[in-house]
Amino acid sequence: MKNLVILGSTGSIGVNTLEIVAAHPDRYRVVALTAGNNIERLEEQIRAFRPEVVAVVSDAQASLLRARLDSPTPEILCGVEGLMACASHPGAHMVVSAIVGAAGLIPTMAAIEAGHDIALANKETLVTAGPLVMARAAARGVRLVPVDSEHSAIFQSLEGHRRGDVRRMILTASGGPFRERSLAELNQVTPADALNHPNWSMGRKISIDSATMMNKGLEVIEARWLFDLPAERIDVHIHPQSIVHSMVEYIDGSVIAQLGLPDMRTPIAYALSYPERIALSIPPLDLCQIGRLTFERPDLQKFACLKLAYEALREGGTAPTVLNAANEVAVEAFLRGEISFLNISRVIAAVLEHPGDHRLEHVDDVLRADRRARGRARKVIEAIA
Ligand code: NAD
Ligand code: MG
Repeated sequence: MKNLVILGSTGSIGVNTLEIVAAHPDRYRVVALTAGNNIERLEEQIRAFRPEVVAVVSDAQASLLRARLDSPTPEILCGVEGLMACASHPGAHMVVSAIVGAAGLIPTMAAIEAGHDIALANKETLVTAGPLVMARAAARGVRLVPVDSEHSAIFQSLEGHRRGDVRRMILTASGGPFRERSLAELNQVTPADALNHPNWSMGRKISIDSATMMNKGLEVIEARWLFDLPAERIDVHIHPQSIVHSMVEYIDGSVIAQLGLPDMRTPIAYALSYPERIALSIPPLDLCQIGRLTFERPDLQKFACLKLAYEALREGGTAPTVLNAANEVAVEAFLRGEISFLNISRVIAAVLEHPGDHRLEHVDDVLRADRRARGRARKVIEAIA
């Protein structure tokens, strides 16, 4: 029996994870759940999975939840301390890190310090603090298993091969809802257009990141730290069918890929069960019916966010932290209708022009750079809104 903590259980990844747990009650047990604001869904999950402890963002949410539950209730914690207590639950074997945004960093670090293996969906943790997170995971003997489908594909394509034989990694990207739109057309798109992803159903923030292709930029940075490969050896191919989830090219010219239908339950289940596999009720991949798998290079002029992410990675230090924080603020502003779609990348570029102190030695450096970048991003938005 594997005891799981699920950070961000009410989100898209969290719900998919619990679906796998429900299908394999002989293998997985939930000991802790955490949620942001969706108290209703958390209540349902508590009734179904009976965790020992849960955490929500505020005292007010904790009171609301308490009032909705009859005894025996789980222990109900709140705030960052509550998230950290869940993440470091002494009875846990693995922590599923599925909070969205840089808010996932501190709880994920707490899980690492507690020595728990991590199923990592929260890519922003590695984007904002990659070298620190990897160093602490190595020091604590913690295994970080990727949930992100591209990184799961690479992780699987590396199995049984020697790291030193890798020449290049190729991340695939669907190209999002605007792959075929011109730059001029992108001026007019609305949040509803941008949220309408052709292949994947995901949370709001990552859906916008997919439309700007910042998601792929964040994934390049995630891959850089997870697999310890420099940016020059991480390429991106647009693959609109989302069947080849990513590839590893070796020094002899062989390319190993992982394929599957676009369903997050596959990489989530692999992270939970690694190195084994567990059965899932996912239909077989019918390549004959799909017929064609196509690949093209991304247009970095149209998808400026991808270019900015490569630049921040090359810049190093806290530049990716700044990129990530500015992106989070800009995406929220776009979703609120305060800035246009194309202004998302302009805000990030403006914030990156004044990156501040680059030092990245301690989590405090990350938090400081993140806070400053958010402040600057808000100022840029005020100026253009
Ligand atoms: P989501 O918005 O659907 O869910 C986010 C979860 O985090 C929710 O439970 C929410 O309540 C919680 N949360 C949000 N802000 C919080 C805060 N400040 N403090 C505590 N909890 C908070 O997001 P998602 O689509 O499930 O994505 C989660 C993470 O997984 C993201 O980092 C995303 O990039 C990554 N990811 C998602 C997918 C996908 O298919 N959805 C695929 C690959 C990677
Ligand atoms: Mg992905």
